[in-house]
Amino acid sequence: MKREIRDLTLEELQAELAALGERPFRAGQIFSWLYHKGASDFGEFSSLSKGLRDMLAARFTISRLELEARLESSDGTAKFLFKLADGPCVEAVLIPAGKRKTACISTQVGCKFACGFCASGLHGFRRNLTPSEITGQALALRAEAGGEITNYVFMGMGEPLDNFDNLAKALRIMNAPEGMGIAARRMTISTAGYVPGIARLKELDLQVNLSVSLHAANDRLRDRLMPIYRKYPLEKLVAACEDYIRSGGRMITLEYVVIQGVNGGLNDADGLAGIARRLRAKVNLIVYSPVPGLAFDVPPEADVARFTRWLEERKVRVTRRRSKGQDILAACGQLAGRFTEKAETAGRPRPVKES
Ligand code: SF4
Repeated sequence: MKREIRDLTLEELQAELAALGERPFRAGQIFSWLYHKGASDFGEFSSLSKGLRDMLAARFTISRLELEARLESSDGTAKFLFKLADGPCVEAVLIPAGKRKTACISTQVGCKFACGFCASGLHGFRRNLTPSEITGQALALRAEAGGEITNYVFMGMGEPLDNFDNLAKALRIMNAPEGMGIAARRMTISTAGYVPGIARLKELDLQVNLSVSLHAANDRLRDRLMPIYRKYPLEKLVAACEDYIRSGGRMITLEYVVIQGVNGGLNDADGLAGIARRLRAKVNLIVYSPVPGLAFDVPPEADVARFTRWLEERKVRVTRRRSKGQDILAACGQLAGRFTEKAETAGRPRPVKES
């Protein structure tokens, strides 16, 4: 059976070529055709001999993600729904903000962790994305943006650190100069608090950014909002973050979605400020995006401003992130959820939750 060539890192491709009696530097040429020139057929690889092109075509495929839907918001945010070869869909989002253009990428179909406020968790977990399915979103969004993406965040559907091996391969391919050539500091991994993944990320020889989705600063509330808490309580998570920071002088950002009447009180500000100061972390405050079917509401602006002020009074660096693309189901998992519902109605299998 043929393998997907874009699932291989540069080093893996070099090893494959060496086993075929080819010079390893050919791997760089192949990467250039795949990631710089966007070739989709081995016949286009004109810098390679006909013999090598035929050998590659006999062993590998070059896949592309199929665009199922594209929605554009009035604020310029564009959401893309890609259909995978085996049927399910994943989302990626392109978010313009001033001079920045951020690509938000998915790493799993659905999610195991079922956070109470998130659309991705609503339909359960189906499978991990492969390295080529992860980089495929980045390639498609880069083409869409005319090559001008400034940041890549792994904050779409799924828990990136729960798909660590494929994520790490995708990061290497995206970072390699022969690949997409994206600086590690321009890539951010977001975790809901998957402690074993944080420990593994610490060992990765790429200085990517880590962002921790906290959303609750005490055990009782985190238990209610984020079931991952039951396995990895706050103290374990904060200790893993401290270990991560110590290991390489790296910084962490805390993400905090403010939900009306849930996590924006004075006690919450005290708890969040304590954790942020302990980790010397900046806090990104995000106003909740409503998800149909979930019983959470958007807080009034005055409440968010007051919460921001409380944090600042407690010496926390706070950045307010605007929720973008509200008119296009931009909250993570909403668009894919819509299509999953359609697919289920059409008799396709329902995504299953891992036990
Ligand atoms: S917030 Fe992240 S970890 Fe939680 S259910 Fe959504 S995708 Fe999964």
